[in-house]
Amino acid sequence: MSDLGFDPELVSRLDRPGPRYTSYPTADRFTEAFTAREYEAHARRRYMAGQHRGMSLYIHIPFCRTVCFYCACNKVVTGDRSRALPYLAHVERELAMQAQLHEAGARRIDQLHWGGGSPTFLDVAQMRGLMNAVRRNFSLGDDRTGDFAIEVDPRFIDAETVAALRDMGFNRLSLGVQDFDPEVQRKVNRVQSLEQTAAVVRAAREHAFKSVNIDLIYGLPSQSVFGFDATLSRVIDLAPDRIALYNYAHLPHLFKPQRRISEADLPSASQRLDILQRAVRRFGRAGYRYIGMDHFALPGDDLALAQDQGRLRRNFMGYSPHADNDTIGVGVSAISNVGASYSQNAHGVDAYYEAIERGELPVVRGIELDADDLLRRAVIQGLMCHFLLYIPSIEQTFLIDFRSYFARELDELRAFEQSGLITVEPADRPEWLTVTSRGRFLVRNLCMVFDRHLRDRPTAQRYSRTV
Ligand code: SF4
Repeated sequence: MSDLGFDPELVSRLDRPGPRYTSYPTADRFTEAFTAREYEAHARRRYMAGQHRGMSLYIHIPFCRTVCFYCACNKVVTGDRSRALPYLAHVERELAMQAQLHEAGARRIDQLHWGGGSPTFLDVAQMRGLMNAVRRNFSLGDDRTGDFAIEVDPRFIDAETVAALRDMGFNRLSLGVQDFDPEVQRKVNRVQSLEQTAAVVRAAREHAFKSVNIDLIYGLPSQSVFGFDATLSRVIDLAPDRIALYNYAHLPHLFKPQRRISEADLPSASQRLDILQRAVRRFGRAGYRYIGMDHFALPGDDLALAQDQGRLRRNFMGYSPHADNDTIGVGVSAISNVGASYSQNAHGVDAYYEAIERGELPVVRGIELDADDLLRRAVIQGLMCHFLLYIPSIEQTFLIDFRSYFARELDELRAFEQSGLITVEPADRPEWLTVTSRGRFLVRNLCMVFDRHLRDRPTAQRYSRTV
């Protein structure tokens, strides 16, 4: 048994494909019966009900200059920057359509996120143009309280671009790194020096970005505990406010670039676990708190504060301190969450353009949540974000008797309780579900117990492994 309490036998029993629960129900449950018409109805209902809450806005920029072999994102690889011009024109039209639908003047955007692909594929003038379009259509919240984030590729931006991003209104940067080991970088076709990354972090500090995030991946080809340890040292020296450490999901039947990765080069499950444990230990010693599912943050960061104050939530951008915001997703494959619905835009650029040119929102699939989905979503959010569930509060909100409604689930949790992953107390009439410190690293397995869709129709082909 390791110092984190991982029993190898337990881990190998639980190491199976599972959702990351950035939504519940998960995106593979969306259907084409949910169209733009249903999405619009949900948005209007929200507004008519007078629920003028803050909103989150996600914009997907799908272009990348080169392909990383581990990539599972929706992207277009091209060296031709002019390919972005028609895309940006269509995104601007979608922004205007969404703003009109949501009567956006009355609602504040307090979380903005540009992801991809690589948003920094765009040049500074293109990015300014897009940010101006956002501001024309929506009212951006205050710099002190709002989160305005952009994913950046340190290989292709310089300090002046970082300064320009701050000037446009971004206050958070998320840097893709994955691993500094040159051999791993070569194997995944992403060669990025420490100096390139350090220069972007320095520039972010100079220009008063309030938070810098670094993305890492474990489970990549040629990774070892020793090699990744050197990466951890470098990342800790850079002192980002947040660190995301993702588990590589090798699904070459779904993601073509991954066919360039030889399975023989991948670390075994026990090596992956060793790498994860080493990372958890080193981040902990360096003062980072494990927020949950892949994420670490310094205690003063908003994610840690939101967790302390019980307002942390999970959405398609990961963890968010903006509890219960509606999320509007703009651009190809972007996902929206409005009221009791999720919906997703067309995946391909051509289908996306065609819908916009017909004057329609490019929604191609989605799901309307029923009462059971809303209840289970609240349970899963509680476990994922706070590692804790106070059962009477769920009973009062959803008017159920938890013990009878979730009799089967409570029964299934017993095996996890015996393995030391969760406590259910008091045993005779449960009031608290508490994920233990060792259970935190396997919280997906615990959430899967409450996933009715997974039980009714098991599917694993798009999921990463839980360890
Ligand atoms: S990992 Fe990021 S930068 Fe690399 S190909 Fe995928 S979207 Fe582009």
